[in-house]
Amino acid sequence: MNIQNYINGDMCAAQLGAVLDNYNPASGKVYGTIPNSDAQDVSKAYEAAAAAFPTWSNTPAEERFKVMNAIAEGIDNLRDALALAESNDQGKPLWLAKNEMIRAAQNFRFFATAAMQFASESHAMENRAINYTLRTPIGVVGCISPWNLPLYLFTWKIAPALAAGNCVVAKPSEFTPVTAAMLGEICTAAGLPNGVLNIVHGLGATVGQAIVEHPNIKAISFTGGTATGKHISSVAGPMFKKVSLELGGKNPNIIFADADLDKAIKTTVNSSFMNQGEICLCGSRVFVERSVYGQVKDALVKAVSEMKVGDPLDPATRVGAIVSKPHYEKVLGYIALAKEEGATVLCGGTALHPEGLENGYYIAPTILEGLSASARCNMEEIFGPVISIMPFDTEEEVLAMANATDYGLAATVWTEHLTRAHRVAAQLQMGIVWVNCWLLRDLRTPFGGVKSSGVGREGGWEAMRFFTEPKNVCIAL
Ligand code: NDP
Repeated sequence: MNIQNYINGDMCAAQLGAVLDNYNPASGKVYGTIPNSDAQDVSKAYEAAAAAFPTWSNTPAEERFKVMNAIAEGIDNLRDALALAESNDQGKPLWLAKNEMIRAAQNFRFFATAAMQFASESHAMENRAINYTLRTPIGVVGCISPWNLPLYLFTWKIAPALAAGNCVVAKPSEFTPVTAAMLGEICTAAGLPNGVLNIVHGLGATVGQAIVEHPNIKAISFTGGTATGKHISSVAGPMFKKVSLELGGKNPNIIFADADLDKAIKTTVNSSFMNQGEICLCGSRVFVERSVYGQVKDALVKAVSEMKVGDPLDPATRVGAIVSKPHYEKVLGYIALAKEEGATVLCGGTALHPEGLENGYYIAPTILEGLSASARCNMEEIFGPVISIMPFDTEEEVLAMANATDYGLAATVWTEHLTRAHRVAAQLQMGIVWVNCWLLRDLRTPFGGVKSSGVGREGGWEAMRFFTEPKNVCIAL
């Protein structure tokens, strides 16, 4: 499939005509091309967005609501085709891609409603004055997203930006661009006016960089790696841009002896290996209270060894292909490093070459034991099907280990002890804490991390506030 940029409602090639190969990670083969765009294409996309802004920002919320709901419906109607495209592009099991398409539609539906409900505050100063806050759209904003949950995360940014009345220049990951291209067609069919959303494909270092550097793109919503986020901050900071950064994680999953262990073990298999472990919220460090350590370890190793790895299109597959060759090599490199750091591989630990897909990028789900809490493999984000399991003795000890990395995105806590749950949740230095569940998402809640996991929050009013500028109006009485 050869995809194109979506600028001013048109599908168009990069102005210089260059293309990049697009690989199917399940087979390791090139199966299409994407425009290798550059700053000229970003500039053209900006011009289209700037021209569309006066009308879109003054379009009544009710009209924005209708168009965004029509986009959600368009995603629902194309769910199977989008899911297949996403699976081919990313390597994730098809059944998982189908679930993610539900969420992509929900992102538009949720923020369509937010457009209708978003209201500002007013502050009365007794008999002296009344203040009210106007919340106006920013103008043209940039949305840059990663490859792990392609359409799910792309729409999670674009929907609130549009709901708040902004126009958008967006870039999906070069590794997973196809469903973003399909979204452009869906938006046009749904009646989104030309130029309101523009999608430019290509490399982060050229297209992403040009979006971040563009003097008139006033806000950047970015999800991706911490190193990229740091770079984006260094460019956008001196330009005084608004920046929202959702970055990496090294999430602890803490299992206390008093937990519902069956549920904890079952969920831990998912929270460790769903989407090949390529979800920023996956728990990669599993801490188990010593009295149940052996029992939990054995059950996890058994369940994980039985997970079917292979063809993403096979309904029985639980773990598909790693997104790209460089990432596959990076994950294998971390497994080799773990061994050097003294880890025992309890299961997995190797590349796999399923019959007929020998050149695809498959790694057996891997459980490591025996790493010190401060080993690099326990500190750095691997972002693949690799977890490290460790025993602990006390609450204080596990909190210290859980909080010991530079990251602070999400944690999972398993306990039936009510006060412990509250106590531990309060002390974890994370943006999100799940107790006795994982990835249970209410889209109204603040989403994001602390420390090197990011700056700012997405979700609900947090996203609507990010994509608007508050202005205080004070009227003397
Ligand atoms: P990257 O940081 O490599 O890329 C993210 C996006 O940024 C891509 O579209 C990329 O383009 C682009 N980009 C790269 N360089 C620049 C630049 N100089 N200027 C602007 N944009 C640039 O992350 P990955 O795609 O590898 O995604 C994995 C990371 O994302 C993991 O660390 C994961 O934890 C994190 N993540 C965080 C989430 C959160 O909510 N906190 C959710 C999901 C993932 P291209 O790839 O085309 O070069």
